[in-house]
This record gives sequence, structure tokens and C-alpha cells, in this order.
Amino acid sequence: MVKKFDFLVIGSGIAGMSFALKVAHKGKVALICKSGLEEANTYFAQGGVASVTNLLVDNFDKHIEDTMIAGDWISDRAAVEKVVREAPAQIEALINWGVEFDKNEEGEFDLHREGGHSEFRILHHKDNTGAEIQDSLIKAVQRHPNITVIENHFAVEILTQHHLGVTVTRQTPDIKCYGAYILDPKTGR
Ligand SMILES: Cc1cc2nc3c(=O)[nH]c(=O)nc-3n(C[C@H](O)[C@H](O)[C@H](O)COP(=O)(O)OP(=O)(O)OC[C@H]3O[C@@H](n4cnc5c(N)ncnc54)[C@H](O)[C@@H]3O)c2cc1C
Repeated sequence: MVKKFDFLVIGSGIAGMSFALKVAHKGKVALICKSGLEEANTYFAQGGVASVTNLLVDNFDKHIEDTMIAGDWISDRAAVEKVVREAPAQIEALINWGVEFDKNEEGEFDLHREGGHSEFRILHHKDNTGAEIQDSLIKAVQRHPNITVIENHFAVEILTQHHLGVTVTRQTPDIKCYGAYILDPKTGR
């Protein structure tokens, strides 16, 4: 059976659900997950999310440097810079989808400092930040009329040009994804 959507999203963690929410105004989205919507590593992340939020005491260069040091300089600098610089916008998106981060009595984010961070920049929700993110995104996804959730289905193969007889490797430029084979373990189809 072929099901057609404008976007196919595999996985219901923070990556999959936030992508689904970002593109859902452009077309129909299928969100596939191999078990229940809530079953993801995202749910279990406790500590919090690092982002520069207070430019009076912190800045992107410090966050980038801390991350490169913590990664023993093996990390891809371009990727680190992208993640660090885009973090505030992603935090804002999470908040707009309903995620609540703890605030102090002055109404500012209650920032923590941990791990390799030299500044207070960890946003958190009590000690269950991941569960707060997971639950809030599930509600936002379920509210969205353009997102169809398909639980308990496994993505078993991504369809690319290799299905047309073209040799595709990780180095192939412009790999296209036409869809995926999705298995329903209940029916075996
Ligand atoms: C105990 C713990 C504590 C953590 N603490 C922190 C922390 O404090 N701060 C922090 O920043 N990070 C933390 N992390 C890491 C963080 O949770 C992950 O980096 C993040 O959640 C990854 O999100 P994701 O959406 O990429 O993947 P996930 O949340 O793992 O989501 C993957 C999704 O893909 C689905 N899936 C996988 N394969 C298939 C398939 N073949 N077919 C269909 N569906 C499939 C899964 O069911 C799931 O829904 C922690 C992780 C753990 C486990």
C-alpha cells in the first residue's frame, strides 16, 4: 500500500517533532515512530539545554570554545558554530510550542552551569527537561491538522536513486529521498 504525504518524518524525539511542526504549514506531514509517540531518548534527557541567553555575561564565542574543548577539538567546528548560534532561535521555537523552562523570581531564565560550560547557560524544567519537551511537542503535534501520526511502525528502508539502479554512497552529492518502506509489525506488511 502506498501512502502519499508532502513530508515524511521518521522519529518522534525533539528532532522529528520539531521538524514536523516547522514544515506542517507547507503541506501534509506523516510522522512515523517505531513505538509510541512518547518513546524517545528526548523524554529521558534530564539536565537541560545549553544556549546563550544572557549576552551581558555570555556570548557565542565562549559557548563555541567550551564545546570545542569538551569535544577535545575533534568536533566539526562548522557544525558546532551552527548549533550554538542557532540555539536561541530554537529555544524560542520550543517555548512557542508550549515548552516551559524554569525562571527565577526576577522572571529571567533560571540558568544552570554544568559539564564543560564556563558560564550559566543551561535552561531546564525542574529535573525533567526532556519529559517537558517531549510532552509539550506531542501536544503541539496532536493539535496540528496537517500532521498524521503513525505509531508502532518501523522505517526499514529509505528510497533513494539506488532504487533506480544508480550507485549511491554517503559521498554521492544530491541524494534524493523519494520516501521509505515502512513496516507494520502487527500485519507484517
Ligand atoms: C538518560 C539521558 C539523559 C540525557 N540528558 C541530556 C541532557 O541533559 N541534555 C541534552 O542536551 N541531551 C541529553 N541527552 C541526549 C538527548 O536526549 C538526545 O541527544 C536527544 O533527545 C536526541 O533527540 P532525537 O530527536 O535526535 O532522538 P530521539 O529522542 O532518540 O528520537 C528518536 C526517534 O526515532 C524513532 N525511531 C528510531 N528508529 C526508527 C525507525 N527505524 N523507524 C521508526 N522510528 C524510529 C524512535 O522511536 C524515536 O521516536 C540525554 C539522553 C539520555 C538517554
